Amino acid sequence: MSRTIQQMLTENYVAPETTPCVPPRDEEELKRELWQVEPPARGLGLDGALDLFREKVLAKSIKTWHPLFLNQMFAGASVPAIIGDLLAGLMNPTLATFEASPAGTLIERVVSSWMAQMVGMKPGSSGIFLPGGSLSNLMGLTVARNSKLGGDVRSRGVSSDRKVAILCSAGCHYSITNAANLLGLGTDSVIKVATNERNEMRIEDFKEKLAWCDANDVYPFAVVATMGITVTGGFDPLAEIVEVCRGRDIHIHVDAAFGGGHALTRDGRELFRGIEEADSVIWDAHKWLHTPLTCTVLLVPDPLVLKQTFASNADYLFHDPDHEADITDDLGQYTILCGKRFDALKVWLLFQTYGVEYFQAIAEDRWAFAQQVQELLKADDDFEPCYELRSPLLCFRFMPDALRKADSAYRDALHRWCRTRIMEEGTSLFNMSKLGGTSTYRMILINPLTEMRHIESLIADLRRLGYAYMEANPF
Ligand SMILES: *Cc1c(COP(=O)(O)O)cnc(C)c1O
Repeated sequence: MSRTIQQMLTENYVAPETTPCVPPRDEEELKRELWQVEPPARGLGLDGALDLFREKVLAKSIKTWHPLFLNQMFAGASVPAIIGDLLAGLMNPTLATFEASPAGTLIERVVSSWMAQMVGMKPGSSGIFLPGGSLSNLMGLTVARNSKLGGDVRSRGVSSDRKVAILCSAGCHYSITNAANLLGLGTDSVIKVATNERNEMRIEDFKEKLAWCDANDVYPFAVVATMGITVTGGFDPLAEIVEVCRGRDIHIHVDAAFGGGHALTRDGRELFRGIEEADSVIWDAHKWLHTPLTCTVLLVPDPLVLKQTFASNADYLFHDPDHEADITDDLGQYTILCGKRFDALKVWLLFQTYGVEYFQAIAEDRWAFAQQVQELLKADDDFEPCYELRSPLLCFRFMPDALRKADSAYRDALHRWCRTRIMEEGTSLFNMSKLGGTSTYRMILINPLTEMRHIESLIADLRRLGYAYMEANPF
């Protein structure tokens, strides 16, 4: 067993560049090898199963530790956090009750309060760990709904006589619309505010949408400010949103799933001004803090609001429902989950290993690196960045002079073709999206292993392929 594990660790993590980021893909072969109709009647033994895993699963999978894995808002994972994940599996506690996990409960409480401090929330803020930003947005907006739409929403549901709305930017994450669906408000209750070139909320349009709500007897009970907008890495103008909302009965939910990490940088902290007025904040540690997926916190100024929203009667589990809401309270009363993983251990072990300063240093380093890549592209006649960067998420286009005359369908086809070739060549997995209706390449530059030489070589590939496409497809 140890031999296979050692080999896998070396090939994938110690020297990730020895094999391609994207292995050759043959869907028929994948199906043939992995689509076992019947479960195996007799086992292969652990060594055999691990060999099978190494050959048929790992070798056929995208390498998210590779320096040119730039496709997702996460990349790699830090060794202490992986060990934290392993140890959480080994301990296998449930953090639903204090009696079953006293140390785990305290660690979750304290780590969430650290994270609240790190993004600049009010003293006393903390929260709960949850599997993923999407669920955390749903739960944050559940708090908003129950605290703003009357005390009986929890028991009686949402009254249909009152029209309500959630305001968010047109660039917000799709989980907001899903939350409106799941909360019984309907997806039409989500009002999308117009955005700028970085998909950031335009404050003037936010004011207009609020005025429209007032004129049409619609109660905008929540606004979502996104910190680290999905496609562009932009930031909604939180401080201005807070000012506009002052005096209104509106819940301010901050989706910092990606952008939370930027609060560790000097420039990023500036973008978080106003966070002390937020009613709920989410932050994915599995993005910029590099823990394995999933590891998210939902943070609130007073965690008691979570208990008020989610506490349940379950005599078999919570033996002391009137327990004082102190740090020894059962965390299961603060969430909709029953079995509760020890995700906080990943973050705790990371901070104990490296200290916060280390994360501040890598966040500054990646932010500086992304800006250098932006400068490289600006200076290159064949490429253009689509906007001025706010965080290490870069969208750019192949745009030599000769291509300006082509229509946008042609340019879309070119970008798509080049990206597919790069995947086939195995070099990199980066993303594509659309801005202003036309395709862009999209790279998330938070991977600590990515160096300038990697990016330069990828840009050279994109140039070679872009010109090859134009030569093969004259317009
Ligand atoms: C990643 C992300 C989400 C979704 O989080 P998951 O952990 O992937 O569910 C939501 N909002 C924003 C802004 C994100 O970047």
